[in-house]
Amino acid sequence: MKLLVIGGGAAGMSAASKAKREKPEMEVTVLESGNFVSYAQCGIPYYLSGIVEKHENLVHYPIKEFVENRHIGVMTTKSVEKVNFREKKIYLKEGQEISYDILVIATGASPRKNRFYGMKNVFFIRSLDGAIEIRKHLHGNNIAIVGDGILGMEMAAELAIHGKNVSMYSKHSSLFPMVDSRITGEMVDYFRKQVNVNLNSMVEDIQENDGTLRLKDSNGSVHVHDHVIFATGITPNTRFLEGSGLKLDETGLIVVDDEMKTSIENVYAAGDCATSFNRITGVHEWHPLAQVANKMGRVAGSNIAGKIMHYKGALGTTLVKLFDYEIGFTGLTAEKAVKNGFNPVEILVQGFSRAKYYPGGTLIRLLMVYDHDTGRILGAQICSKDGGAWRLNTLETAIYSGMDMETLFYNDLGYTPPFSQVWDPIITGASLSMRD
Ligand SMILES: Cc1cc2nc3c(=O)[nH]c(=O)nc-3n(C[C@H](O)[C@H](O)[C@H](O)COP(=O)(O)OP(=O)(O)OC[C@H]3O[C@@H](n4cnc5c(N)ncnc54)[C@H](O)[C@@H]3O)c2cc1C
Repeated sequence: MKLLVIGGGAAGMSAASKAKREKPEMEVTVLESGNFVSYAQCGIPYYLSGIVEKHENLVHYPIKEFVENRHIGVMTTKSVEKVNFREKKIYLKEGQEISYDILVIATGASPRKNRFYGMKNVFFIRSLDGAIEIRKHLHGNNIAIVGDGILGMEMAAELAIHGKNVSMYSKHSSLFPMVDSRITGEMVDYFRKQVNVNLNSMVEDIQENDGTLRLKDSNGSVHVHDHVIFATGITPNTRFLEGSGLKLDETGLIVVDDEMKTSIENVYAAGDCATSFNRITGVHEWHPLAQVANKMGRVAGSNIAGKIMHYKGALGTTLVKLFDYEIGFTGLTAEKAVKNGFNPVEILVQGFSRAKYYPGGTLIRLLMVYDHDTGRILGAQICSKDGGAWRLNTLETAIYSGMDMETLFYNDLGYTPPFSQVWDPIITGASLSMRD
């Protein structure tokens, strides 16, 4: 039995490793278009800012580990250009064809490109190969980031921390609208002191002039930068499948079921190139996140080997560090909850991260969403300089398991002054819901 995996990222390597572990007699080969497999894309912003010194530090396992210890074939710099599902063959860019019995497509996603792609000193971030190239050239001090999503905000903060003069261009009228402004206000004020923020500002043109870039924005102003980094969204790497007969959704994602099976027998897909679904609503969604990709890959690999696993959906849980702030969100916003037939109530809580008498505590701003009729917790967002991440993940666990606010109130969270107050903001939020 011959398993081919296209893509050596989180999902592809998880699928390959799991299938081989469960069924050692299977011949498993991974085809990867870049030079690396199994590395931490999430660490790229820290490599670009310099906090991670060497790119090798981002590699989870060297290729040798897969080939020699796990007995998985790894072919790098091999880009799959076409698949013939009827004949069970893939075709490489270089012209070679390879046959398979079972196929996993785990090709991830790429930055949305625009007409400035390919210009000198204009960068789009995704792969480790790309990041190595970017770091070679990132010597200028004056850097523009376009896009105030997670990656854009993270890149801007990391580069500013490391001494760069950073400007942010956002098409929005307020910065970072993915998270509720009622909890991010303090962070945004701080961010704007460290980064020159241009709101309602689209990039209209970029001209190279004597080694610098002249960026014209939609307000008609011209700004001079050494580098421009676009972080304006991603798109699944599935273009090579168009017209192949494989079912894609309207955004180009490969449609999979909860076993990671696609519309074609013996073809699986996992990770950023495939559909996920919302744990609460059951609705198909895109969750281009590292843990989701790893789990989808594991599910695919296990099922291929005959040990049936079912993917159980995700909440889109996202954490990001912006300067010293820990910010996160999970589950449904009130708006999304309404659209899905819930009767949501929002609770805003401000509390302290540690006992007030214990040094180092900061304010925690927490937004919780629950369903009025059942008490079920639906979503949470948090922003704090201290202990935001663990609280968000605690709430994720509650939401994922379908907990209601009253049960959350009675949860036996650990307490000690350096880590929380006796009435932690999570418990305060839950208790407020019990007042109605
Ligand atoms: C800068 C950055 C920071 C991130 N930070 C976070 C974070 O903090 N938390 C989080 O949860 N997620 C984060 N993510 C997202 C996370 O990295 C992805 O969700 C995850 O890597 C997806 O795994 P994947 O295997 O689906 O895709 P990938 O890891 O992208 O792997 C796909 C692989 O397929 C290869 N490939 C593509 N097309 C072909 C082809 N035709 N032939 C052969 N090979 C091909 C690609 O070269 C790539 O190596 C970040 C992503 C980036 C880029």
